[in-house]
Amino acid sequence: MIREFTKYYRAHVPLFLLDFGSAFLASLLDLVFPKVVNIVIDDLLPQRNIQLVIRIGIFLFFLYIIRYILGYIVHYYGHTLGTKIEYDMRQDLFNHIQKLSFTYFDNNKTGHIMSRIVNDLNEISELAHHGPEDLFIASVTLIGTFFILLNTNWQLTLLIFAIMPFMAWFSISKNQQMEQAFRNTRLKIADINAQLEDSISGIREVKAFTNEDYEKIKFQFGNEGFRQAKQKAYKTMAEFFSGMDFLSNFINLVVLIAGGWLCYSNMMTTGELVGFLLYVSMFLQPLRRIMSLLEIYQSGMAGFRRFREIMEIEPEIVDKPGAIPLDKVRGNIVFDNVAFSYDNKTEVFSNISFKINAGETVAFVGPSGAGKTTLASLIPRFYEIEEGAIYIDGIDIRNVTQKSLRQNIGIVQQNVFLFTGTVRDNIAYGKPDASDEEIIKAAKKANAHDFIMELENGYDTYIGERGVKLSGGQKQRLAIARIFLKDPPILILDEATSALDNETEQIIQESLFALSKNRTTLIIAHRLATIRHAGRIFVLTKDGIVEEGSHQELISKQGLYYRLYNAQFGS
Ligand code: ADP
Ligand code: MG
Repeated sequence: MIREFTKYYRAHVPLFLLDFGSAFLASLLDLVFPKVVNIVIDDLLPQRNIQLVIRIGIFLFFLYIIRYILGYIVHYYGHTLGTKIEYDMRQDLFNHIQKLSFTYFDNNKTGHIMSRIVNDLNEISELAHHGPEDLFIASVTLIGTFFILLNTNWQLTLLIFAIMPFMAWFSISKNQQMEQAFRNTRLKIADINAQLEDSISGIREVKAFTNEDYEKIKFQFGNEGFRQAKQKAYKTMAEFFSGMDFLSNFINLVVLIAGGWLCYSNMMTTGELVGFLLYVSMFLQPLRRIMSLLEIYQSGMAGFRRFREIMEIEPEIVDKPGAIPLDKVRGNIVFDNVAFSYDNKTEVFSNISFKINAGETVAFVGPSGAGKTTLASLIPRFYEIEEGAIYIDGIDIRNVTQKSLRQNIGIVQQNVFLFTGTVRDNIAYGKPDASDEEIIKAAKKANAHDFIMELENGYDTYIGERGVKLSGGQKQRLAIARIFLKDPPILILDEATSALDNETEQIIQESLFALSKNRTTLIIAHRLATIRHAGRIFVLTKDGIVEEGSHQELISKQGLYYRLYNAQFGS
């Protein structure tokens, strides 16, 4: 785990050395002051050598300016280092999540995933900066001070060190409690995020069912859990810090009394006592630093552990070592005895075989839940099949890169996802380097140009989150324009018009028909009227493909298709 962490320093070695070196020098300088006070009180003041005192003052002043510069470097560049490391990790995490397969997203809530990227990494920058620096510096100061103390007065030093173990025990046990408490708060905030994502994405449902109060209570529950967890964390923190305050005051008290007695007995000078007191308070500083470092370490490491957990999830579907890029295909698709299940237990289908010729339009119909969407998502290899093989132009899709495979396929679904951005951005998602002419041409083909021109800012109109300002038909037309731009040889229309009213559906059908020209097209549809362009129809049920043929053939067969057709259109 530590090695995984230190790996991130490699890219920032100069910055790290600058920070580290400055912190080291700063802590050495800090050791000078009490010694100087000691000398001034014991030697210079009795000699009444004010000139030397002033000279020492000037010397100290310059020393403090250097100390100031070092301090600035430590605080600024140290945190810069931490932030850079956090940036690298966040980027790595995002890139990794992009690589994960659909199964991961099926099984994890968006809010939880977001929480990892946003919150868990927050404290890592603190750890990355303070971790190595403080540990080393504090140790240097600690050891340095210890020897100076011992040199000044060993009896008093031993007395203090008799109290130390108790202090160490106290802080270690309190720190363990704090770790537990902070881990708990982190879990609770992830819950809040998930809850938030749910209520906000589903705001239409919430309002339509007037379930605002229900959502409020659910949120309050999560919020309350977080509050309690946080309160508990602060309670242990309060116990820790006030306890440490008390113990350090107590040590000062012991030094004052015992040292006073030593002075009284002429075993120690006044200057030594003052210097000793200053060193003792300095001694407590690195000790506290190590303690608070423990806290940073706890929360940072907890975040890092969760970071690693995701980084260690292997994408389920990866390109084969020798995977070749698939050129623009002709679009011949073959399913050869394909078996698939989402969970390796219940198979959605066990033995599907069919052939689709390049440029052909076929339809898949069947009851809801039969596996039509699933079947379509196997072609771009969104999920891995268990048995059999899928070939495109005779090439097993497992032998080609996922990127090149998916570049050959366009999918239009019932629910269009539009990204935050302009109309132009959303169409150009199909081909990010498209020129304006290309975008307009695609929009025209999709019957979208006219309505886009009527929008306030035309192609530059900003679409709200998830495109709430557009109607279903308009969104669908943008999605179609996107595919025109992408221009894939294979097209999958999965219930593309199911959510639309009849009139809109007619218009969209035209665009879809234009889109399907010269492409291998799979139409998945509930409404049988929408598949009239399909040359062949496959009827898919839980038992697999039960019927296959043209509309006429299937009608005359008087099987399941015939019954579905009659149910929708009467006899
Ligand atoms: P259709 O599109 O024909 O309505 P689907 O392909 O969506 O059917 O679903 C087929 C079966 O697979 C259903 O039983 C459904 O519950 C299940 N299913 C669909 N998507 C997933 C998923 N992401 N994870 C697990 N099971 C799923
Ligand atoms: Mg479906």
